[in-house]
Amino acid sequence: MKLVVASPTGLCFGVRRAIEQLEKALATYGTVYALGSPIHNPQEVARLKSLGLEVIMNVNEVSGDAVVFVRAHGISRAELEELKIKSRVMVDGTCPFVRNAQKRAESLASEGYKVIILGDSEHPEVRGILGYIEGDSCVIGGKKDVDNSARYGKIGILSQTTQNEASLADVVAKFVFLTDEIKVYNTICRATIERQESIKNLAGQVDGIIVIGGRNSANTRKLVEISESLGVPTMWVEHAGEVDWGWTRGRGTIGVAAGGSTPDWLINDLTGKLKRL
Ligand code: SF4
Repeated sequence: MKLVVASPTGLCFGVRRAIEQLEKALATYGTVYALGSPIHNPQEVARLKSLGLEVIMNVNEVSGDAVVFVRAHGISRAELEELKIKSRVMVDGTCPFVRNAQKRAESLASEGYKVIILGDSEHPEVRGILGYIEGDSCVIGGKKDVDNSARYGKIGILSQTTQNEASLADVVAKFVFLTDEIKVYNTICRATIERQESIKNLAGQVDGIIVIGGRNSANTRKLVEISESLGVPTMWVEHAGEVDWGWTRGRGTIGVAAGGSTPDWLINDLTGKLKRL
């Protein structure tokens, strides 16, 4: 059996950076509180918990001597300010690309633009960006959500970092006809797109793909959907212990792809076991 690993695959720059910051804080302070799960990967969260991570869901759970960590997706400005006041040390793991989107949203609002965010309104990153907007704003999922009968004054458009550029272009094209002034910031990060492109390339080379990543990871789910849509037999596992080894039998070449929140140690464990086959 031959093994081909998608490239690039696994941790994106922002999540890798955040995990490194968190590990450093855990080594220094022992216990660190994260507001919301710091990464959409249950095995990595369990590993970090064994090092002293405590996941909290509310800023009110932070006491004055706590060390707190802000995840790569970021949080709202109000939460950030409150955490600073309530904690002893705050480690800000917000990805620089997310921070850029927050800053763009803030500046658009201060210049009097109605801010339109292309993204998922329930996603923590989008909720965080909304928290930087003082003024009119709305979140849309795509061009289908644009009201063709409405008229706008000044529109400022930006995107959740994981959207794709074609959707952003479609939305902008629709708004151009509905407004006098439009300002667009392309705040899309290429990491997600690159991982989706890499699994498409992989699909043409293999007889089956194992996608490894958390079941709570939207970008891992997307990789599974792409692989399946290309007609490639696909298995989704969170770790090597879930692999159905019978499924691998008779397949000449197996591909491995991982979501942007899957740590290296889980990928290496899987590829190591596959290599031993
Ligand atoms: S996907 Fe992009 S924006 Fe999101 S954490 Fe990773 S590098 Fe940052």
